[in-house]
Amino acid sequence: MLDLHPFRQRTFRHRASLEGVGLHSGANVRITLCPAPADHGIVFERTDLSPRVEIPALAENVVDTTLNTSLGRGQVRIGTIEHLMAALVGCGIDNARIEVEGAELPILDGSAAPFVQLIGEAGVKEQRNARRYLLVQRPIVVEDGDKSARLLPARRFSIDYTIDFKHPLISDQRHRVHLSEKAFHKEIARARTFGFKRDVERLHAAGLGRGGSLANAVVLDDFNILNPEGLRFPDEFVRHKILDAVGDLALAGMPIIGHLDAVKSGHALNHALVKKALSEPGACAVVRPRAERELSALHEAVPAFAGLEVA
Ligand SMILES: [Zn+2]
Repeated sequence: MLDLHPFRQRTFRHRASLEGVGLHSGANVRITLCPAPADHGIVFERTDLSPRVEIPALAENVVDTTLNTSLGRGQVRIGTIEHLMAALVGCGIDNARIEVEGAELPILDGSAAPFVQLIGEAGVKEQRNARRYLLVQRPIVVEDGDKSARLLPARRFSIDYTIDFKHPLISDQRHRVHLSEKAFHKEIARARTFGFKRDVERLHAAGLGRGGSLANAVVLDDFNILNPEGLRFPDEFVRHKILDAVGDLALAGMPIIGHLDAVKSGHALNHALVKKALSEPGACAVVRPRAERELSALHEAVPAFAGLEVA
């Protein structure tokens, strides 16, 4: 039952590129997915700089979570990485070099679907080495007022997410999913980012959101959706929050075996949860099963989590 977590590590077969505008800079950026050796992890590389600067996609390198998730090293930044990170998790990619010719990843259509398509073009290759996993061993909780994010022991990676915006179209949406590769592609990857017209105006005034348009986000005024094509799912908003959480949790640096329960969470809280999971003694264990049956045995040893074990 480990559809998202095949036993061996994966990378790409070939290089594959795409180009698009950054949401905040409005600048055109080209990215290239490149194969990488086993145990390399996901590493971004600013190839427009000389010398080039590498930044591993790890929680310790997160420098900003206010509007999106940005990695940094010294003065160098790579922003809006979460949708690509989610696509990499959704396709089970462990090792990759991501060349980026700018300070921000392209926003494309505001979802992970174009990145999933690009990963398809690069092709997926299985490697010899077994994977490492972050096995959640006891509940890890972070809270901020009425917002919370918790990781609980579970046999598979699953997410239960609730949002409650003060808006008639997105109050009290909840979505639950077992993150299999199929479920990610079908239920999550196509969900677009969203924003409110008044916030878009404020961002523009601050010189941000320059690349933003109805082509790469669902935009709402006080009562309506402004996009003429409407929504891709009736609950597209909460599905996009799940997409963001998958991308943020990917910064643990390895697949998580556990259940995320999130209420009104966002990038900052997701990031705090990952940091706590990695630093709190006894909360998680890093495991590298040497055979498929060892991985199955590990799963069997985790008590069934009542909330989502039965799909
Ligand atoms: Zn997002």
